[in-house]
Amino acid sequence: MLCLSGLDPSGGAGIQADIETLAALGCHCAPIITALTVQDSRNVSELVSVDPALIGRQMDAILSDMSVVAVKIGLLGSTAVIEQIASELAKHPDIPVILDPVLKASGGTKLANQQVIEAIRKHLLPLTFLITPNASEALRLCPMPNTSNEECAAYIHSKGTPHLLITGGDSPGDSADVVTNQLFNAGKPTQFYNWPRLADNFHGSGCTLAAAISGFIAKGKPVANAVAEAQQYTHSTLEAAQPLGKGQLIPIRVSPT
Ligand code: PLP
Repeated sequence: MLCLSGLDPSGGAGIQADIETLAALGCHCAPIITALTVQDSRNVSELVSVDPALIGRQMDAILSDMSVVAVKIGLLGSTAVIEQIASELAKHPDIPVILDPVLKASGGTKLANQQVIEAIRKHLLPLTFLITPNASEALRLCPMPNTSNEECAAYIHSKGTPHLLITGGDSPGDSADVVTNQLFNAGKPTQFYNWPRLADNFHGSGCTLAAAISGFIAKGKPVANAVAEAQQYTHSTLEAAQPLGKGQLIPIRVSPT
């Protein structure tokens, strides 16, 4: 697995979430850092993009050397980074790309401006196999105002991404006790997954879920199975999460149960 993600020095989110999740699932992660951040278990205070040309050379080195079976993308610091990643990925159209659009930290800091969102729409959606926005990220990715999840899915499909999982952890929905995730699976009937809402807040839950989906896809699971098993794994990492800092709990991804 090739993972393009940000560095979170708390170790809760970003590339560490990818490496730990993939190791727990028996996959090898080749890590490329897209951005450095200053953050703690509460919120992100700084984001510094990595030089796009350097990211391009790292991708080229790994994709020429290793049999990469899937690519996972997380935090993207700038439009130039997005354009560079897209131009490298376009050379490898057979490798499935799983995109976790990190637009806002759960602590509240915006991690993507309007230009970044437009660059994701234009350059990455046509190359993406599966995207995993939460409900508010899905709304920001769609240019139309007040869209339903179904309208959002139709828009994302029209841009070239066949599979979309909208997670409901950030939206209370019909019941405050339940988190509902929705899979729009390339024209198949929409699947709903209900999970008991855990009482705490977590740092890196979205990264963990997207990395787990990528890992199961890398292992050859069909999308619906990968998505179901990844949610089960992520839920167990959240049930085992620990208050390692003063803010959100950190998921325990290696041997969570
Ligand atoms: N920092 C990095 C590097 C991330 O990749 C992410 C999420 O993917 C975050 C921060 C935000 O994590 P959270 O939403 O759990 O606050």
